[in-house]
Amino acid sequence: MLAGAVAALIAAWQFSLLSIDASFMVFAAVMTALSSVLQIQVPRPKLQPAVSLTIIFLAYIEFGGSAAVMVAMLEGLFASMNLKVQDEGLNIRTVGVKTSIAVLAATGATQAVDAFLTPIGLFAEDNALLGLSSTVGSVAFAHLVVSAVILTAFAAVKDPKQVSSIMSRFIATGIPVYVLSAAFAGAVAFTVRQFEIIIVGLSGIALLLVFMTYKNHALELKESSSKVEEAERERAEAERLRAEEAERQVSDLRKVLVEQEESAASLKESREKFRHAAFHDALTDLPNRNLFIESLRFQLEKSRASQDFRFAVLFLDLDRFKMINDSLGHSLGDRLIWHVGRRLQKLASESDLVARFSGDEFAILVAGHNDPSDLLNFAQLVKHKLSAPFSLNGRQVFTGVSIGIATGNAAYTEAEEILRDADIAMYYAKEHETGVEVFDAAMHTKAVKLLQLETDLRHAPERNELVAYYQPIVDLATMRLMGFESLVRWNHPQRGLIPPLDFIPLAEESGMIVPLTMWMLRKSCSQLAEWQSRSPLNKGLMMSINLSGKHFADPKMVEDIRDILVETNVAPSSLKLEITESAVMENADAAIAVLKRLRDLGCQLSIDDFGTGYSSLSYLHRFPIDMLKVDRSFVSTMEDGSENGEIVRTIIALAKTLGLSVVAEGIESIHQLHQLRILGCEYGQGFLFARPVPSEEATALLDDRARWQSIIPDNNPAVVAQNREFSQLRIMKQ
Ligand code: C2E
Ligand code: CA
Ligand code: CA
Repeated sequence: MLAGAVAALIAAWQFSLLSIDASFMVFAAVMTALSSVLQIQVPRPKLQPAVSLTIIFLAYIEFGGSAAVMVAMLEGLFASMNLKVQDEGLNIRTVGVKTSIAVLAATGATQAVDAFLTPIGLFAEDNALLGLSSTVGSVAFAHLVVSAVILTAFAAVKDPKQVSSIMSRFIATGIPVYVLSAAFAGAVAFTVRQFEIIIVGLSGIALLLVFMTYKNHALELKESSSKVEEAERERAEAERLRAEEAERQVSDLRKVLVEQEESAASLKESREKFRHAAFHDALTDLPNRNLFIESLRFQLEKSRASQDFRFAVLFLDLDRFKMINDSLGHSLGDRLIWHVGRRLQKLASESDLVARFSGDEFAILVAGHNDPSDLLNFAQLVKHKLSAPFSLNGRQVFTGVSIGIATGNAAYTEAEEILRDADIAMYYAKEHETGVEVFDAAMHTKAVKLLQLETDLRHAPERNELVAYYQPIVDLATMRLMGFESLVRWNHPQRGLIPPLDFIPLAEESGMIVPLTMWMLRKSCSQLAEWQSRSPLNKGLMMSINLSGKHFADPKMVEDIRDILVETNVAPSSLKLEITESAVMENADAAIAVLKRLRDLGCQLSIDDFGTGYSSLSYLHRFPIDMLKVDRSFVSTMEDGSENGEIVRTIIALAKTLGLSVVAEGIESIHQLHQLRILGCEYGQGFLFARPVPSEEATALLDDRARWQSIIPDNNPAVVAQNREFSQLRIMKQ
């Protein structure tokens, strides 16, 4: 920059020595102004025809070296300022550097020409064109060389590695520019010399107009080329976006396809699982009833097609499974079922089909033969193998099995019929404790009869075929009638009086137990109300009625009982409801809840058949009950010192501890009565006093309440003593 300034000052000083005439002033002003305006940019390739160079060369030709340097300086300044005006951001330093380079280049070039070329006399006056050409050519060449040197120096300072590439680029673009600029300057100078100044001016204006048009055109060209570029960019961008979108869609599609494939696979899998689940038992994974029936149908078809084809069905039901399940818990029960399934599978041959139906029911489809003795042998083998203990969680568990066999024959039209007959045979085996039974016609008749009985039972209450019998319950201390137990009978139009054990299970299975019990409750309560109203002595008479465990599931039961009590005008405390121990134990928690509601109603509660159930002793204190009924089986076999006598004694002691009263049922002998009285049993019931009798006979017993006192010989001191003690105990309790 300093060198530039010095060179400029020297030029200015030299120049001031010359006369600054008007023509230079005009030239300098117009040219520098023009040069800043005439920024020609040809869009492609990027060539800058240097107007500034043309002006410098022109100034040199017309006014000499110093003038050229001054013009270069002015042009440099103006050009920089012009850049500033165009808002390209230019600081003073950059202006200084640029201007200095222009000045130094011009100084170097003009000095070189002045020093070396002018003295040779190249620029002879007599040959204007040659002189002009050599002058402008020399100065252009010198300017080019000096510019190259300066540029190289700059490049070397900035980045030495770049020197050669900058140089080669400068020379490649610079030479045509310099040639053009020099030619242009020479042409202008020559024209000025040849023609009048006005013509030159006019040509200048024309040239300017041409130039402006060109510039506009160049600008338009630039604009349209940038538009083209922009459009191209947009098109490329759109193309890219489209490509991206297409790629995305392709990957989406691929994903969808993969998903579809996966979901098709999982659908297939779930369908297969579903199919498997539909035809298999979840616990044992054995075929279930559906698959068994399907296979049975297939066998039936085969046997129809070929008379020689034989097959059979074995229907199996575990004995005492419910008890095992209840006492050992359901998870061990499930494991037992699983093990039974495995054993059966081992026993069966390849062609046989082992299935689990539900709970403890299994079936085996034996294909290929139906010889009864073979089948019986096979069934016995199965029974034998299943009787071996199962080891569950370190425990030895035993189970038995009852097996019914039905052989396939052409008389069957439906697979279900064969299964039904095997089932009937199994029931028969269970009932008769034979273990294995082959189905026969007699069984069928019996089963049909049972079905008929069930149908008849449905109509029994409305047809007034049910009858209530009453069995007295005696106070053992006073030997007087305390109340009755109401026991149902069915007066069947064809079969006569049917005992309850022949139809109660049927009623429980078919749901008929609910209307049956309601009928009994209504009948017995109105009978009790009638008896109680006969005499003030009968006011404390009790009525015991049996409730089935199956009835407990009816949410309306408690309400219904209350309604009947209201309807028949019986005090709830006169009603004693008997529930068997096994029924309560089946679902102890639920039973306790219902028992509490019955107790809240004011009824008395009694546990029937006590002692036959399984280990309910631990539960007993949780039951809201008033009385225990010792089961007949203990009473009927009790003798002095016998085990059953011990049991009865223990039950009575337990009842006393819990503040419960005790009834012994099934008293048939005086001996039993004596024993019970000695043990302090409070109440008794049995054939010794009376069998269950219809209402008229019961009324007769009622009118002779003290009739049983004669059974007890007054001279038996032990009994009398016991009686006294017993009565005192009861008084204390009250
Ligand atoms: P349970 O409740 O234990 O009734 C006593 C049964 O023992 C009665 O049999 C009765 O006749 C019989 N019995 C009474 N004393 C003696 C005796 O000294 N020796 C012998 N060998 N038997 C005696 P029944 O009337 O045949 O009733 C049998 C069972 O049927 C009843 O046993 C009871 O569980 C059920 N049952 C009877 N009536 C009904 C009822 O209305 N509803 C319900 N749910 N079950 C009833
Ligand atoms: Ca009973
Ligand atoms: Ca009983």
